[in-house]
Amino acid sequence: MSDCCLTHTSGEKTGNDRNSPSSKRPSNSTRSLLIIGGGSAAFSAALKAAELGVHATIINDGLPMGGTCVNVGCVPSKTLIRAAEALHRAQRPPPFAGIATSGKLLDFKTVIEQKRALVEELRQSKYADVIGDNPNITFIKGRGRLVDAQTVEVDGKKIQGDAILVCTGARPSLPAIAGLDRGNYLTNETAFELDALPESLLVVGGRYIALECAQMFARMGSKVTVLQRSGRILPDETPDLTDALTGYLREEGLEIVTGIKLLHMKQEGGQVVVETRVNDVPQTFRAQRILVATGRTYNTENLGLENAGVQTNSNGSIQVGETLETSAAGVYAAGDVLGANMFVYTAAYEGALAVGNAFGGAKRKRDYTALPWVIFTDPQVAGVGLDEKQAATQGIETDVVTLPLSHVPRSLAARETRGFIKLIRNRATDRLLGARILAAEGSELLMEVSLAIKFGITVRELAACFHPYLTLSEGIKLAALAFDKDVGKLSCCAA
Ligand SMILES: Cc1cc2nc3c(=O)[nH]c(=O)nc-3n(C[C@H](O)[C@H](O)[C@H](O)COP(=O)(O)OP(=O)(O)OC[C@H]3O[C@@H](n4cnc5c(N)ncnc54)[C@H](O)[C@@H]3O)c2cc1C
Repeated sequence: MSDCCLTHTSGEKTGNDRNSPSSKRPSNSTRSLLIIGGGSAAFSAALKAAELGVHATIINDGLPMGGTCVNVGCVPSKTLIRAAEALHRAQRPPPFAGIATSGKLLDFKTVIEQKRALVEELRQSKYADVIGDNPNITFIKGRGRLVDAQTVEVDGKKIQGDAILVCTGARPSLPAIAGLDRGNYLTNETAFELDALPESLLVVGGRYIALECAQMFARMGSKVTVLQRSGRILPDETPDLTDALTGYLREEGLEIVTGIKLLHMKQEGGQVVVETRVNDVPQTFRAQRILVATGRTYNTENLGLENAGVQTNSNGSIQVGETLETSAAGVYAAGDVLGANMFVYTAAYEGALAVGNAFGGAKRKRDYTALPWVIFTDPQVAGVGLDEKQAATQGIETDVVTLPLSHVPRSLAARETRGFIKLIRNRATDRLLGARILAAEGSELLMEVSLAIKFGITVRELAACFHPYLTLSEGIKLAALAFDKDVGKLSCCAA
């Protein structure tokens, strides 16, 4: 039922651009999927559909092809974080005697240009080229709107499909603060495109996007103040973790102010002036720029969801069941627009799962067991499974071990002992329930723990596995041993 007559109008160099739809091999598929949104969930869904012999039409507008991750999310943020880290390390006295370093920011614009080149390269190689000449995938640049549960309208034309997938993602949500006008604030959609480094920057928010951006800009040389509404940054995490991270960020010179109520914002003498109450005491903050990172709003307005009978939650995200089908039969949803587990790898997983369920026979339920996540501050925050607070809410009795990195030989040798490894186990079964890691490159430790949780490996079994000396992963073994032993009294590599 796919409409092969719509021409591809995207500005990206897709296979379709180089090879007009008419010169593409025609799709021999008799079944079709319409995808509204063109981010990671969409691409994964389209490839899965093509694999199943289903013709997929991706309809994308707003962000360029590839959506948030490649254009304004994961890729630009992580490459700039690395650039800022390189500068930071070069500017500080190294922790090794007899060595001096020096480094300076020569040209911020060039840093941004290099980032832009990477984004363009990855958008081409990981998105445009991937759908390339695939006869079973068509990409349309245009705003999609549901007409009913089998029809989508794009630029006044109606296309029909056997199933529809909505994966329109999310965008920055803005705090209710008088004076916050388009053009006078930055978000993740504009901050990575600045030509000049702000001398000073207010960052509103205290979760991962705010903290990653705050540290990155501070390391580049901006004077950064984080304004967080809650009593602490990362308020969903336990205080040991957030207190330690707050301390490390403050040591680097970031100002972190919590308990903030934003009242009013204005431009004055080339500066942003924000009137606030901090724990009920009036306080004014000034900076050259302000970056807002106070959560995400789901792209579900003007989508015609009501025409198809697709229900949303009170926060605007789309309601789905375990198979990712919405309240309208044949209409599925995936990715950030679901409002939970908002990562690129879950978006891709959900996109493929939804298509499998729509076209693949036996339906599978979504499963987020042992879902790992990372906050790319330095030190990084990495987590999987339950923390002790969450386990207690579920009525599970736990043992918790927190191993400071000063016990890990790799960290000692690298003279980088900031942070800890915390493991949480089920007291009754010895099975690992979760981990929270605060460590430079701590994300690299996560998968071992994630696999242990997923496959029911006990803490005793984990501790019995060889872990090479001196690797950071030895820290996992030491933390596992620490449930029963004082690791401070163990010899090197002793079990
Ligand atoms: C600053 C930042 C850093 C991040 N870093 C990481 C990270 O390091 N690791 C990680 O795993 N995740 C990270 N994420 C999260 C990750 O980027 C998202 O979870 C993921 O990109 C969501 O993919 P999606 O396909 O659901 O939506 P998106 O990628 O947002 O795609 C949705 C697309 O649909 C378009 N659209 C919306 N409405 C319509 C319509 N009506 N018609 C047509 N098109 C429409 C949008 O413009 C967009 O192009 C980060 C996010 C941000 C903001």
